[in-house]
Amino acid sequence: MSALLQADEASALLEAAIRGDLPDERGRFGPFGGRYVPETLVPAFERLEKGVHEHLHEPSFRAEFQRELHEWVGRPTALSYAPRLSESWGAEVWLKREDLAHTGAHKINNAIGQAILAKRLGAKRVIAETGAGQHGVASAAACARVGLPCTVYMGAVDMERQSPNVDRMRRLGAEVVAVESGDKTLRAAIDEALRTWVTDPEGIYYLLGSAVGAHPYPYLVRELQSVIGQEARQQMIDLAGGLPDVAFACVGGGSNAIGLFYPLLGDDIELIGVEAGGTGNGLGQNAATLATGTPGVLQGSYTIILQDQDGQVQETHSISAGLDYSGVGPEHALLQATGRVQYISATDDEALEALEELCASEGILTALETSHAFAAARDYAAQKPGSRILIGNSGRGDKDMPTLTKYPARTRSHAGA
Ligand SMILES: *Cc1c(COP(=O)(O)O)cnc(C)c1O
Repeated sequence: MSALLQADEASALLEAAIRGDLPDERGRFGPFGGRYVPETLVPAFERLEKGVHEHLHEPSFRAEFQRELHEWVGRPTALSYAPRLSESWGAEVWLKREDLAHTGAHKINNAIGQAILAKRLGAKRVIAETGAGQHGVASAAACARVGLPCTVYMGAVDMERQSPNVDRMRRLGAEVVAVESGDKTLRAAIDEALRTWVTDPEGIYYLLGSAVGAHPYPYLVRELQSVIGQEARQQMIDLAGGLPDVAFACVGGGSNAIGLFYPLLGDDIELIGVEAGGTGNGLGQNAATLATGTPGVLQGSYTIILQDQDGQVQETHSISAGLDYSGVGPEHALLQATGRVQYISATDDEALEALEELCASEGILTALETSHAFAAARDYAAQKPGSRILIGNSGRGDKDMPTLTKYPARTRSHAGA
């Protein structure tokens, strides 16, 4: 993708990104990002943008956000050294444990931050969309915490596939609405949420789940998730005695990855995002957006997307529902184009194998999404022995048990001993 930017343009944009000057006032990360939305949605987005600028960096918002992260989410999350993995890989492996955050993944950082913002903007209720249900659960929990009613739109197909999460959301007080239109999955759910938002942009707050979509969401979500990288950076210095050589994170929409990478952009650390390689390289067999996609507009943002030659957005496949998305956040598109972050993919099988290894050697059942980052890190360690590796352990894998039971655990010599 480097052809998208001239070399001098790329280095100027990277410097701006490191300084914290991106997105610009039009919501752009260089050529990417922006706000491509229908006229009817413009007032809602403008209102949100104004609210974000007024509140996000205001001291009493920061104080409340920090307090909730500490007292309710359970932050700072641990940084764990992985001794047995380190030994078997011939590397020094450290894990940033977002699986230990409340509700089991990094998504809660964003959900509680936006729920607090919704309250301050005077919203009467919150709407959210969800695919696999993880963001829906985080939103339902966060809304219960701040005392706002929450409606979660979910494709009818996804509701059937993820019924335990539907039940979780309802118990957390959310109303779950089945979306029967379009593909009956995440994209249709987002469209339905947007349609609802337009009807009452003042009374409704739309709580988006990843660093994607039209401005200001990619910026807002990055700011809320950056706590991951800020903590990890300090913990590496305190516990590991220095920064890592390389950091890995899995990339769906890109929120846990940007949260980890953003505070490390100015450091001499290799950054590697890992997408879902699915079952193969063919269109529709994976969700490796940055690795194989092309520029286009998806859900209000100019970014890299999986599309055919007519610009039709392609279906994706991944064993992990959270990576199964045909777009990616615009800031990642820029970081790839500047060469600062490298994006690669791991297949379903590689992710499963990595999950099994991590489970048996460190006693951590990680999420299938996260397992993609482990698979890539293991390959890296094989090529560069002795590296100090930081992995963003984005979530826990309990939610994946229905999928995992279809793949019986292999017997591993080092696990059973
Ligand atoms: C949702 C999810 C992801 C993917 O979302 P990003 O916005 O790319 O971070 C990754 N890991 C876990 C555990 C998730 O639940």
